[in-house]
Amino acid sequence: MRYIFSDRLGGVSQKPFDSLNLALHVGDDSLHAVKNREIFAKEIGTKNLVFMDQIHGDHIEVIKDLNTKIVLKTDAMISNLKDIALCVMVADCIPILFFDEAKNVIGVAHAGRNGVKKKIAVKTIQKMINEFSSKTQDIKVILGPSIQKCCYEVKKDVVSGFEDYLHVRNKTIYLDIVSKCIDDLKNFGVKSENIEVIPVCTRCDKKYFSYRRDGSTGRFCGAIKL
Ligand SMILES: [Zn+2]
Repeated sequence: MRYIFSDRLGGVSQKPFDSLNLALHVGDDSLHAVKNREIFAKEIGTKNLVFMDQIHGDHIEVIKDLNTKIVLKTDAMISNLKDIALCVMVADCIPILFFDEAKNVIGVAHAGRNGVKKKIAVKTIQKMINEFSSKTQDIKVILGPSIQKCCYEVKKDVVSGFEDYLHVRNKTIYLDIVSKCIDDLKNFGVKSENIEVIPVCTRCDKKYFSYRRDGSTGRFCGAIKL
């Protein structure tokens, strides 16, 4: 198994998408994004990259065809195919990677506030169990760089379901969706030692794309392959 999280550096896109933007939907020159995907493909070690047309939903697709390039209206994917890399694009949302080392199954999920609320991480594991007979205790979960409680400012009307994950500073509410996601995974039976969190805030760290910081910007990727 191999996984990587890309960052902004080392690509060919120009401002405001500079430089390793991997998204085709953000307004960047598509030739740049395509070239950047070639660079990224070399890093992960396969040219078979599978992307999602992400909509903040909770549909999970099982990838059975090696030639799949894009899955529409999907926010998570799982597969047991070799020589494909499942890719999740983000700029503040949590890129989540899954690996069942017993059954050799991989997965990715895109989790923003809505995805976390819909428990997309837990649902992805449930799908691995249903489709590939995975066992929860065998599954490793990696949460990549995302906007953290230092920066995730929200209005009162979206906090329902996150009551235990709010931080109020100077009358401003900040949300900690990373902790909520981790607690949901643990409550489902994922072992603490199998949950790895990369403690980097995308809005604080300019090495990463951040929609909240920059508005019109690129997307970086979490990717995993067997
Ligand atoms: Zn921050």
